[in-house]
Amino acid sequence: MIIGSGAGGGTLAYALTKKGKKVLLIERGHYLPREKENWQARAVFLENRYHTKENWYDKDGKAFLPGMNYYVGGNTKVYGAALLRLRKEDFGEIKHFGGISPAWPLYYEDFQPYYLKAEELYTVHGERGEDPTEPPENAPFPYPAISHEPYIQKIADQFKAKNLHPFHLPLGLRLNEKDPENSPCIRCDTCDGFPCLVHAKSDAHISCIIPALATGNLTLMTDAKALRLIAEGKTIKEVEVVQNGKTERISGKTFIVSCGAINSAALLLRSSVANSSDLVGRNYMFHQNSVMIAISKERNPTRYEKTMAVNDFYFNAPDSPFPLGHIQLLGNVKGEMLAEEAPSFAPELSLDFIADHSVGWWLTSEDLPDPNNRITLNAKGEIVLSYTNNNEEAHKRLLAKLKDLLSGSHTHFFPNKMYLSQRIPIAGCAHQVGTCRFGKDPKTSVLDLNCKAHDLDNLYVVDSSFFPSIGAVNPTLTIIANALRVADLID
Ligand SMILES: Cc1cc2nc3c(=O)[nH]c(=O)nc-3n(C[C@H](O)[C@H](O)[C@H](O)COP(=O)(O)OP(=O)(O)OC[C@H]3O[C@@H](n4cnc5c(N)ncnc54)[C@H](O)[C@@H]3O)c2cc1C
Ligand code: SF4
Repeated sequence: MIIGSGAGGGTLAYALTKKGKKVLLIERGHYLPREKENWQARAVFLENRYHTKENWYDKDGKAFLPGMNYYVGGNTKVYGAALLRLRKEDFGEIKHFGGISPAWPLYYEDFQPYYLKAEELYTVHGERGEDPTEPPENAPFPYPAISHEPYIQKIADQFKAKNLHPFHLPLGLRLNEKDPENSPCIRCDTCDGFPCLVHAKSDAHISCIIPALATGNLTLMTDAKALRLIAEGKTIKEVEVVQNGKTERISGKTFIVSCGAINSAALLLRSSVANSSDLVGRNYMFHQNSVMIAISKERNPTRYEKTMAVNDFYFNAPDSPFPLGHIQLLGNVKGEMLAEEAPSFAPELSLDFIADHSVGWWLTSEDLPDPNNRITLNAKGEIVLSYTNNNEEAHKRLLAKLKDLLSGSHTHFFPNKMYLSQRIPIAGCAHQVGTCRFGKDPKTSVLDLNCKAHDLDNLYVVDSSFFPSIGAVNPTLTIIANALRVADLID
């Protein structure tokens, strides 16, 4: 039985049903509706049409609405589909400005074959050899890199002229540029953060759950929220589930929790299981993330612009001995996304004008595991997310590097009005990981190397919770690769 159908749970359901296992998949959400609003920036970004309406609380008890999406396919229904491997070095210990990023209990080589399978399953496009930080792999990407449009190519060329190594961002889209008439993906300008109306994004629903249902081995319960797991000794016997207002208990042999790092920890805490280490919910990480909008006098006509990334500052920089992080293009900027900040920044310009003249960037630096950055429950059983930033120097320097690069790259920026930049707050928990870290020692980890709870014989956690450190690239390909790895280990 799997609880949660996102990148972790959906992929595991696919791999187990393909092996001939009968799987019950319990998902609190419904299918994400296919409707015109899927591609409307107002509905998606201003009205938060697809976000959950449940409140979570910060460490001071202040309520916030998390940017979480509860659907068949989980958060991958709206993700940007940037699917990168962690670097080989990310599996070892790395010294940062803010402290130590700990070593994983396994090596890159343990994940490498599963990364390749993950890239195949999620139709990843890319070009090996462009990014000097990329981990070893002899096989090419399963699909060719998604091309840069001319405006983006110009930026890539300008970066190359500065001795950087811009590379084609690995992307999980079903795009066939050679045969556009028959390509499921139409290369549109509403992808990153939006659901895909034409089902051409390789999300967990499209890539895994539909083919898993086709095996006849998968039973999918939607709108069914797991409330708690019921243990007897070292065995989970049942899960209590509420569906359409009715609560029932469902028994099973093997229980796999895949609710995402925050909800998985919350479910274990509500159930009082797997926590002899007192580490369930701790060491939460979600990256230091910023969005930077660079505004130019020149109109940006690009249709799909999330095609490029830069890792030249991933491990260090000429003026920084420690890692700074990863830079990638954001999806196309829309006026509605600027509604909060832009009016004070450039009151004389309309939001749509600014958006049309912008390039959006997404910057990611590693945040380090801290046991006090954690998920707990309040007296009502609601989620409390306590988080204090760390390793901020790295992120500050990364932002400065991008500003430096862009000031020479675009010829026509408005003087003194070039950038809007915004740090992603705790509600932007897209990259959540690390609340049930895996490891060899039951005293210092929640899960063993197979992602089975040390404390229980039949409970696994297979989603973003197992990460001992986060690296600085988007986490989902690692979640998928790990789910494929665990599927090989479960009988
Ligand atoms: C806007 C956005 C853009 C993103 N872009 C990228 C990107 O470009 N690249 C990248 O690598 N990552 C990206 N991410 C992050 C990516 O979506 C997550 O890393 C990934 O979905 C996590 O997988 P998961 O299986 O851990 O959890 P999820 O995908 O969140 O799946 C958890 C599932 O469990 C269900 N669930 C939760 N609690 C319960 C319960 N109690 N009972 C039953 N079901 C439950 C949820 O409804 C959900 O379906 C993005 C995320 C967002 C929001
Ligand atoms: S770019 Fe392709 S995958 Fe993304 S939303 Fe548009 S059609 Fe779907």
